[in-house]
Amino acid sequence: MTIKKILIWYRNDLRIHDHEPMFQAVQEKAQIIPFYCFDQRQFQQTSFGFPKTDNFRAKFLLQSIDDLNNSLKKLGSNLVSRRGYPEKIIPQLVEELAINAVYYHQEVTSEEVRIENALENALTNTGVQLKSFWGSTLYHVKNLPFPLAAIPELFTDFRKQVAKKSTINSTFSLPQKLPSLENLESGEIPTLTDLGLKDYTFDSRAVLNFKGGETEGINRLKQYFWLKNCLKDYKKTRNGMLGEDYSSKFSPWLALGCLSPRYIYEEVKKYEVERVKNDSTYWLIFELLWRDYFRFICAKHRNKIFYLSGLQGLTIPWQEDWDIFTLWQQGKTGYPLVDANMRELSMTGFMSNRGRQNVASFLTKNLGINWLMGAEWFESLLIDYDVCSNYGNWNYTAGVGNDARGFRYFNIPKQSKNYDPKGDYLRHWLPELKTIPGDKIHEPWKLSQAEQKQYGVKIGVDYPRPIVDFFKSVKENEKIYNIDYNDRI
Ligand SMILES: Cc1cc2nc3c(=O)[nH]c(=O)nc-3n(C[C@H](O)[C@H](O)[C@H](O)COP(=O)(O)OP(=O)(O)OC[C@H]3O[C@@H](n4cnc5c(N)ncnc54)[C@H](O)[C@@H]3O)c2cc1C
Repeated sequence: MTIKKILIWYRNDLRIHDHEPMFQAVQEKAQIIPFYCFDQRQFQQTSFGFPKTDNFRAKFLLQSIDDLNNSLKKLGSNLVSRRGYPEKIIPQLVEELAINAVYYHQEVTSEEVRIENALENALTNTGVQLKSFWGSTLYHVKNLPFPLAAIPELFTDFRKQVAKKSTINSTFSLPQKLPSLENLESGEIPTLTDLGLKDYTFDSRAVLNFKGGETEGINRLKQYFWLKNCLKDYKKTRNGMLGEDYSSKFSPWLALGCLSPRYIYEEVKKYEVERVKNDSTYWLIFELLWRDYFRFICAKHRNKIFYLSGLQGLTIPWQEDWDIFTLWQQGKTGYPLVDANMRELSMTGFMSNRGRQNVASFLTKNLGINWLMGAEWFESLLIDYDVCSNYGNWNYTAGVGNDARGFRYFNIPKQSKNYDPKGDYLRHWLPELKTIPGDKIHEPWKLSQAEQKQYGVKIGVDYPRPIVDFFKSVKENEKIYNIDYNDRI
């Protein structure tokens, strides 16, 4: 009997644990060729001209590939990599190596699906089996209590039905040994410079020195759950902004598939048995459901998530004022909470969930700027960029998502006082305000001349005055938003 040759096309699933395509190929006792393609389209520009994958995420990706390669080597195999277009390179490899099948994890958004379709076209009539697997969510698509086309539009409806009627599959077991790949050119893993990007070292103020790869992702989980025992307090701390442990920081590893959500789930269940089961252990799973929800919503609505009018189809005359947008990007709006978060993003590639909600609200509800500009800026910089979570959350925050609850905004000064009462986070990122005490730092424009002198800060010189009046700008943008929104309800 001839041995089947299967190419495993790695994409955003850079792990060996809980990996169904690999598991299947091992079951079939096939010759296995693990393959990754550096697709140059990922390193071009977004529609507003930002680098599509800037250096934080690119470095994390390279580290993740390297780690995957090392893990495969330990099992007796290794990763084959090439640069180019997967839909061109895979058919070449198929021919060169007489491959019988290509297994991969499917994606749901347009750019990724287009590549899958192009590959399918290229392999038509070759007799090669192209088999896709669903693998990035906690709940398998087949276990949902509704077909994709009938996914509830509201998160709460989705969550309640799924929690009541669906089950979560167990993780797939790890391969123990893989066939070796003798006589096959493995290809060079490019450097950041090869990809046209600059290397960097982490800013010492970063929440974590994120390092890509399954090994590091699993280490982070071990630290957060087991060694530091942080999970039991997650619900209380998750809205923080400063430090390593206010939240799990699993997102970068989840985004590239270095961590599987089912593996996290199994560890939470173990923690509930061995340590404690409480509202915090429940809440971490709850948050993973948000991630699932956005992926399923993207699968249902396809390209709509990227439309300016969003999932709701609202025609809002958004501004494309680059001067104002640049002040937001650079953290120079005069609102310390927005500025600190935007500087954290551009210096580290990360921002807390609380921060993301506030800066996105400010851009859309106070500045009235095209939300796609913000989403693309996040896409470029976020180390945990995930197409569904990013565009889904931006839809939601900009008020064009499927939650349809009208114009809602974050009261930035109030949020600042609530979530950073002593101003420690603001001082961490805004050195020009470091002498201002806790209760006064949230609204520096209110400082009297005498106070400015006392703290050695000149508002309007050392730190900008607010670029818009908070409540006036909210009212103006609400009026604009409601013209189309009220027509629809
Ligand atoms: C405008 C905006 C853009 C965002 N873009 C992204 C993105 O590109 N990639 C991304 O992973 N998350 C994104 N989020 C969601 C959220 O901010 C991050 O997942 C979270 O901050 C990551 O930190 P953590 O892993 O410590 O989260 P934790 O609080 O520890 O949560 C655990 C996990 O649950 C999931 N999760 C938590 N909140 C959300 C949420 N609102 N939506 C989807 N999943 C969630 C994440 O996978 C996260 O790792 C965005 C949120 C907003 C408001």
